[in-house]
Amino acid sequence: MVSTMNKKLLSIHRSAGSHWVGDGFPVQTLFSYTTLGAAFSPFLLLDYAGPAEFPQTNQRLGVSEHPHRGFETVTVVYAGEVEHRDSSGGGGSIGPGDVQWMTAASGVVHEEFHGHNFARQGGFLEMVQLWVNLPASDKMSAPHYQSILNSQIPVVHLPDGCGSVRVIAGEFAGVKGPAQTFTPVHVWDLRLTNNQPFELNVPENYTTVLVVLKGVVHMHNAESVINTAEVGLFERTGSVLCFDRAENVSALLLCGEPIEESIVGSGPFVMNTAEEIRQAMVDYQSGRMGHLP
Ligand code: MN
Repeated sequence: MVSTMNKKLLSIHRSAGSHWVGDGFPVQTLFSYTTLGAAFSPFLLLDYAGPAEFPQTNQRLGVSEHPHRGFETVTVVYAGEVEHRDSSGGGGSIGPGDVQWMTAASGVVHEEFHGHNFARQGGFLEMVQLWVNLPASDKMSAPHYQSILNSQIPVVHLPDGCGSVRVIAGEFAGVKGPAQTFTPVHVWDLRLTNNQPFELNVPENYTTVLVVLKGVVHMHNAESVINTAEVGLFERTGSVLCFDRAENVSALLLCGEPIEESIVGSGPFVMNTAEEIRQAMVDYQSGRMGHLP
């Protein structure tokens, strides 16, 4: 039986190809505001890196000093290790299961590299970087950095052995995630292992996005199949996601209150107007976003 509150799948998105971010991150951009506009708001972009195997090296692989302004970057590591330093004093190394939630807001300069130990040993790297927009009123707030370890992220087990939900941000089944967010969002890291129909309750009127990283998800409608490295966008009405089956799936479920404001972006800056983008470039070039320590 399918609930009348069934949230219908609107569209499926995938990357046209892959590209390198610096020399460390081979990514597929699974969705981006640059082509899809406000449909995914408050989520702007999602890059999926790997899984890719790197040989051991003494080199620093990654992306060197660059700025961001106007949004938050959320990095979820599944395999390997990522090191970060930024001009607000934030920094650290995150490994499998860990999350880095960086609020660029008024501006930071940062670098992102493979972790030292991972680089020396080599191995598989797999991670996601999600960009979450900020409302205009918070775009020029002070930058902020949250390092969230795997051990701090609560796990909720789904009934009937359907799998589990790691609550990174927001709340699931009354359990709150550790990330502090400006925009109301839920970020759930799902493991789904069920060949029977099951349901997940999600907020009405939020943008709802299912990012399938591994496995294949069959939604209630027989034609609604979301494959590995694909993203399903659901309609905003309705409050139940009806799954037919999902076997050995790793996925991120993103729910967020849409920000009904214009989006103007260029490279590492996402603001509301072209003038604000020009100002961001001037501020970066004149050193007003700070420098790495
Ligand atoms: Mn960056």
